Amino acid sequence: MSLVNNDANAPLPSKFKPYTRQTIHQAPQWARMSEELREAVLVISHVLPFRTNEYVMNELIDWDNIPDDPIYRLTFPHRDMLAADEYALLRDLVLSGADEQAINKEVMQIRMRMNPHPAGQMTHNVPMLDGVPLRGLQHKYKQTVLFFPSAGQTCHAYCTFCFRWPQFVGMDDLKFDAKESSELVAYLKQHHEVTDVLITGGDPLIMSTRALAGYLEPLLVPELSHIQNIRIGTKSVSYWPQRFVTDKDADDLIRLFEKVVAAGKNLAIMGHYNHPVELRQEIAQKAVKRIVGSGATLRMQAPLIRHINEDPKGWAELWTTGVRLGAIPYYMFVERDTGPKNYFALPLAKAYETFQAAYQLVSGLSRTVRGPSMSAFPGKVAVDGIVTIGGEKVFALQFLQARNPDWVRKPFYAKFDPEATWLDDLVPAFGEKRFFFETEQDEVEEHKHGHKVVHMLERHDARIAPAVAHGAPDGRTVVGGRA
Ligand code: SF4
Repeated sequence: MSLVNNDANAPLPSKFKPYTRQTIHQAPQWARMSEELREAVLVISHVLPFRTNEYVMNELIDWDNIPDDPIYRLTFPHRDMLAADEYALLRDLVLSGADEQAINKEVMQIRMRMNPHPAGQMTHNVPMLDGVPLRGLQHKYKQTVLFFPSAGQTCHAYCTFCFRWPQFVGMDDLKFDAKESSELVAYLKQHHEVTDVLITGGDPLIMSTRALAGYLEPLLVPELSHIQNIRIGTKSVSYWPQRFVTDKDADDLIRLFEKVVAAGKNLAIMGHYNHPVELRQEIAQKAVKRIVGSGATLRMQAPLIRHINEDPKGWAELWTTGVRLGAIPYYMFVERDTGPKNYFALPLAKAYETFQAAYQLVSGLSRTVRGPSMSAFPGKVAVDGIVTIGGEKVFALQFLQARNPDWVRKPFYAKFDPEATWLDDLVPAFGEKRFFFETEQDEVEEHKHGHKVVHMLERHDARIAPAVAHGAPDGRTVVGGRA
C-alpha cells in the first residue's frame, strides 16, 4: 500500500490553493509533465472543466507514475477524452492562437455532442412552485429533493468524469443554482411527502460555514418536521479534508453539524471517494472521525471508472478503512452517459464482476454497499447478477430507486450483452418487446410531447445507426435510459 507524499518533509498545505488552466504552469509538478501531457491539459480544458489543488497534487498524485496514476487520471485531462478528430481540430485552433470566437464555436459543438444533461434533469425533474419552475431544485424521487445552492457550485478540484461538468463551464442555460433557500423552504412546506433534502453541487462544502448555515438552519424550523434527513454531497473529504480539521471555520462547521443533529435531523454526509489513496492520508482519516464525532453519518459512494478504480481490492480497502473509521459504504455507481464517457466507461458485465469481487473481500459491515447502479432516466437500476434462465443468459436487474415507487425492487431481466455499458443499451430478455416500466413511461411522455416516443428495443436496433443514439434528430423523444 503506498501513501503518496512526494516530499515527506513538505508541510501539509493548510491554505487552499487551486490550480486552473491559467495557473497550472506555476505548480512545481508542471515541469515533470511531458509536452504531450501539458498540451492535453491546455487543449481539453477548453471543453471540460479543469481545476486541481495543491493538496491533491502534493499528497494524492504519485508523480513517478503519471499519467497512469489514478488521481492524475481523475483530475487531469487526457487527450483520449475527446475523439481523435475533435482533439486535432481543437489543438490546431488553440495552438495557432485562433480567435476566441472560433475556438468557442468548436468547443460548443463538442460539448453538445457530450450529452450535457443526462437522465432528463433539465426537462423532467424541475419542480414548480405556484406554477413557476424552481431553478436550483430537482425533484425526481418522491421522498427526496435536490437543492443546488449557488455558492456551492464549484469544487475543490474537478473530476474529469463528472456528469455535472456543464455547471462548471458556463453553460448557463444548463446550469442549476439557487441563490437562497426561501423557495426550497416554501416548496417543502407544500410537500409533506418529502423526507430527504440533498444539498449538492458542485460541492456545498466549498462554502464557508456561515454561508452553509444560511441554507441549513431554515430547514430546522418546526413546520419542516417532515424533513428527517439532510444530506450533503461532498468530495471535500478527499480533495480538501482540511475543511473538517484545520480550516479556520472547521470547528464552526462541526458545531453546525452538531446543531442539525441536535434539532432531531439525521445529517448524512455523502462522501465521494473514488480510490483508497484518498483515505490513506492521516488528515483524511481525521476528517472522517470529526464528521462521525459530530453525530452526523458519513456514507461512501463513487462510480466505477476505467483507468481509475477498476481493481476490486481497491474498493475493498476503501470500504474496510471507511468502516473502521465509522463511515458506511453506500453505492458503487456505473459511470454516467455524459462527458468523456467513452474514455471512462466499463461494460456492465465488468462492473458487476468488479462489484461482486470487491463485495466478497469485505466483512458484513461493509456489505451495506449497493451496486453497480445506474442513475438512469427511470431510476437507479442495479445489476444484481448475470444468470442463465431457461437456456438464455441474462442480466438480472432491479430498481433501487424509481420515478414510480411501485417499480422499486421488482426484478426484471435483460438479454446479456457483453458490450452494454448503460441501461438503454439493453433489450428485454425472454422475447419481451419492452421492459415492464416502459409502457407507463411512454404513455406519460406521449401525453407530454404529443408524438411517438422511441422505446429501448427500437433504440437498441438504432445503435447500428448511431445518428439517433444521442438525441432525436427526427423530432421524436427518446426515453428509457439516457435522455
Ligand atoms: S467533486 Fe463531485 S461535483 Fe465536483 S467535479 Fe468531482 S464528481 Fe463532480
